[in-house]
Amino acid sequence: MAGVTFPTIGVIGGGQLARMLAPAAEALGVRFAVLSESADAPAAQVIHDVTVGDYTDFATLKSFAETVDVITFDHEHVPPEHLEALVAAGYTVRPGPRALIFAQDKILMRRKMDDLGLPNPRWAEIGSLADAEAFAAEVGLPFVLKTPRGGYDGKGVRVISDLAEVTDWLAEVPVLLAEEKVDFTRELAVMVGRSPMGQTAVWPVVETWQQDGVCKEAIAPAPGLPGQKATAITEAVLTVAGALDVTGVMAMEMFETPDGFLINEFAMRPHNTGHWTQDGSVTSQFEQHLRAVLDLPLGSPAARDEVSVMVNILGADHEDLYHPYLHVMAHDPDVKVHLYGKDVSPGRKVGHVNAYGADRALVLARARHAADFIAGVDVDPHPSLPTPADLTPEGAEDTAPRQTSPEERD
Ligand code: ADP
Repeated sequence: MAGVTFPTIGVIGGGQLARMLAPAAEALGVRFAVLSESADAPAAQVIHDVTVGDYTDFATLKSFAETVDVITFDHEHVPPEHLEALVAAGYTVRPGPRALIFAQDKILMRRKMDDLGLPNPRWAEIGSLADAEAFAAEVGLPFVLKTPRGGYDGKGVRVISDLAEVTDWLAEVPVLLAEEKVDFTRELAVMVGRSPMGQTAVWPVVETWQQDGVCKEAIAPAPGLPGQKATAITEAVLTVAGALDVTGVMAMEMFETPDGFLINEFAMRPHNTGHWTQDGSVTSQFEQHLRAVLDLPLGSPAARDEVSVMVNILGADHEDLYHPYLHVMAHDPDVKVHLYGKDVSPGRKVGHVNAYGADRALVLARARHAADFIAGVDVDPHPSLPTPADLTPEGAEDTAPRQTSPEERD
């Protein structure tokens, strides 16, 4: 098209992150193409410029790269050597493979964090039973064992109480990452956007709650996080983003401990712990990722309200996600529902709900109710939620329905 100056962003992977990048691309007027693993993947359902192909095949990646200006990612599973070859051939890949490798390989990441002087749990590379015995002698049992590459949502993470399990796993994966089992007070995450020109923008640190290794909730800002800790975390994520020359958005997941925090892992793409930014921040992580990979000035990461909450909709035994809309939308016109177009299966992330407001207990209760109701979890359709008019600052926490979960601590 003559006169068209708007670039085309090419996303590898057709999952929900690519799907949620699409409205941001549409709003900015940039063109958007996806290399999807299947024709009915979440992004392929809503984007017209879809190539269905195998991201592990270099020829497929290269012909996709030829049709776009910037390549970016929905997931971390593209073989690093293919990305290096694309860069060598002159294609623009953001984040670049030299940064992305630290989100792809947890052993390289641990080494890099040690080099940067950032707080790691105690860890070791495990290639034999003797290595595992030596590590167990140092940190005790149980410890945590991980596949260095390819894990997600807790798949690829095991708690080891009996060293015989190590031998079994080593038969499948030659080198594993062992970490001390951190006795954390809660899990935290922080996201940063960074552009090639080096501009950065950091969103507030969030508290996250994982259920069976899957993120269930995020609360922004993390309740009761001391200012000094928030500053140390912000400095750490900026150090990593700068040292690795990250482009795009990056999530840093952490364990909070009484003395500070320990780094868990990184994702160099939009991330579940940043979904709250779609409705709760001036600039969503999806828009920021596009701005950053295009080397445009970044948007404000400021929160829109005092508290924002994201609750994932995890598949239960009920497949109809549409009919619950009637109740959820009538009950609370302020919650925002995001569904991914996925078939329901137990525990699968099929969508999320965002809510924001002034009172944390109320915002959490509203988002949980909507998420559970849509999933079909057995919930009271008419919970006696406090209305803002009923709330006094003191009374708020007492009247909201509560579940016990780690984020309830201040
Ligand atoms: P994935 O890459 O699959 O998301 P993670 O490494 O983030 O896997 O681990 C998933 C979850 O397992 C974490 O969110 C945390 O709850 C728990 N976990 C992981 N590593 C440790 C550790 N060293 N100590 C304690 N819990 C851990």
